[in-house]
Amino acid sequence: MPGPGRIYFDNAATTPVDPRVAAAMQPFLYGAFGNPSSMHTEGLQARHAVEQSRQQVADLLGCNLSEIVFTGSGTEADNMAIAGVFRALQDRPFHLITSAIEHPAVLEVCRYVAACGATVSYLPVDGNGIVSPDDLVQAIRPETRLISIMAANNVTGVLQPVAELGRIAREHNILFHTDAVQAAGKTAINVERHDVTLLSLSAHKMYGPKGVGALIIREGTPFSPLILGGGQEGNRRSATENVAGIVGLGAACDICRREMADDAAREVRIRERLIDGVQGLAPNAYLIGHRYRRLPGHIYFGFQGVEGEAIKMLLALDELGFAVSTGSACSSHKASEPSYVLSAMGFDPFCARGALRITLGRFNTETEADRFLEIFPKTVSGLRSIQSYHHTTKETHNGTTGNHFTHA
Ligand code: PLP
Repeated sequence: MPGPGRIYFDNAATTPVDPRVAAAMQPFLYGAFGNPSSMHTEGLQARHAVEQSRQQVADLLGCNLSEIVFTGSGTEADNMAIAGVFRALQDRPFHLITSAIEHPAVLEVCRYVAACGATVSYLPVDGNGIVSPDDLVQAIRPETRLISIMAANNVTGVLQPVAELGRIAREHNILFHTDAVQAAGKTAINVERHDVTLLSLSAHKMYGPKGVGALIIREGTPFSPLILGGGQEGNRRSATENVAGIVGLGAACDICRREMADDAAREVRIRERLIDGVQGLAPNAYLIGHRYRRLPGHIYFGFQGVEGEAIKMLLALDELGFAVSTGSACSSHKASEPSYVLSAMGFDPFCARGALRITLGRFNTETEADRFLEIFPKTVSGLRSIQSYHHTTKETHNGTTGNHFTHA
């Protein structure tokens, strides 16, 4: 939980661990330390806990128990999905379709398989941040083996039409991977209903611990393991299981399954209050990404004229007790570079340099939103002089105050 006096609005970076998850994990950090591969009582106790968690993951996502592979992170699950399928099929031409806005955990492994001989197509997104199913159909070739499109984007929170993309993949007999690290536990995603062949998730985005995730690999999917060793997880990911972490992931999935609808309804209420409130206080604020096709607690604001100053807003807010972000935690060290996600959405390089991401979670309240709206004018007023400066320089350079979209 956030420290005293702090308000945590960065749930897309990571969520606090739910105290119920921590309580479920506790026995496996101390007394119940057995290795799930051991045949004695301690081992069987650990095995039972791992298998119970597998059931909880399956219940959330609608797959069979044997289709779940526990991993060390969402990144590992994404890497395994793409490289694992590629390695199983690399004796034939391999074409992979993904999107321009995927998380680096997908984009980097796409680069890797391309270097190993695969061909990769990157689908564009529209001004709302959405992949077009028609573009997907157009991109399919006879040698397309895998499609990998994220369920929800980590920067904008925009939801992709996973069910439609999955249906297209199935109709063309192509494997479909979705990176559901941001979406799992927050939106109802079901591998059976959505025609998903491989799905990645991560515990620390759903009130579980860091360093544990899962990859769902549907029955019959060609897959070659990346981590070789003792044959754990059905020989798909060797290594002694992170029992406490897996128990945490299972508990997190179980709570999300039962409480997701209530969490979402409350987060949407707070989200809308913040969007209306900020736009009332700062008329230059514009919401980035589709207005409604977004994660329930996800807000991404650009501020016309002061886009390059998002990092200053973040630091000012941090000083006032609020944790927010300028985009994704993974690229915060590159804060002054244009965001490839915003660039793909058609923002010009100046505007693509920054925006303010506010991501709500289970433990945020309306009172916290009101507190934010009270202090928010202080943060903006510090930037007003910068704002007029940028308007002047933009006019000088471009002969226009500039539309923040080059296409919409
Ligand atoms: N995919 C998406 C969409 C993410 O947002 C993240 C983390 O930010 C990851 C993958 C990587 O997950 P992990 O932090 O568990 O490695």
